[in-house]
Amino acid sequence: SKITIAIDGFSSTGKSTVAKQIAKHMGYVYVDTGAMYRAVTFYAMQNGLIGEDDFNIKALINRLPKIDINFKFNESLGFAEVYLNDKNVEKQIRTLEVSSFVSKVAAISEVRQKLVEQQKKMGKDKGVVMDGRDIGTVVFPDAELKIFMTASAETRAQRRYEELMERGDHVDYHAVLENVKERDYIDSNREDSPLVKADDAIEIDNSNMSLQEQFDEILGLVQM
Ligand code: C5P
Repeated sequence: SKITIAIDGFSSTGKSTVAKQIAKHMGYVYVDTGAMYRAVTFYAMQNGLIGEDDFNIKALINRLPKIDINFKFNESLGFAEVYLNDKNVEKQIRTLEVSSFVSKVAAISEVRQKLVEQQKKMGKDKGVVMDGRDIGTVVFPDAELKIFMTASAETRAQRRYEELMERGDHVDYHAVLENVKERDYIDSNREDSPLVKADDAIEIDNSNMSLQEQFDEILGLVQM
């Protein structure tokens, strides 16, 4: 029978890459919860609610009912893309600018409440691989398999840097490293659902693991 797989961990540990592969292999639905926090952040940026030195938290909370986040499966890509109020924002949410604000938005309890409720609904029939920061602790505390991914900050920044450059987003490696460290800090120290390993999660440090090795290890755990 179908199970729920929760994959949590720090920024840019490559959770989504391996989660997508596992989901595809098992015929499960993959849900990227980080994309949902990113989409709310993008909305706030577009509507002038968040910028370099101002952040109108109250206004963002008031607008939450007007923010609709959805996923639509893209056949040719083989995974679901995120939509903000019916517009595909998959590309816009991956910029370093969104990354630089997202942890602040994700620290707002009202934002978390809204998204966690939606995530619970998305996974209610099991057969789901969900990745994020609080999946094993808050969204699906009863998940049959919980993975906690780690890797050194430098390894993660290097991967993220290469990803952004490949996309034609010319960034500075040190800015990426700073962002990774800053998000780790904010995510781990926020009051609401801080990033912690669930007691029953299995930790995988993938600093020196190939994608194939990560896939094999997780699949081995699924079949146990
Ligand atoms: O996974 P990704 O790096 O795209 O997530 C972006 C940000 O969204 C994280 O740094 C974190 O602040 C927030 N997030 C969260 N809870 C989740 C998923 C993401 O707080 N379940």
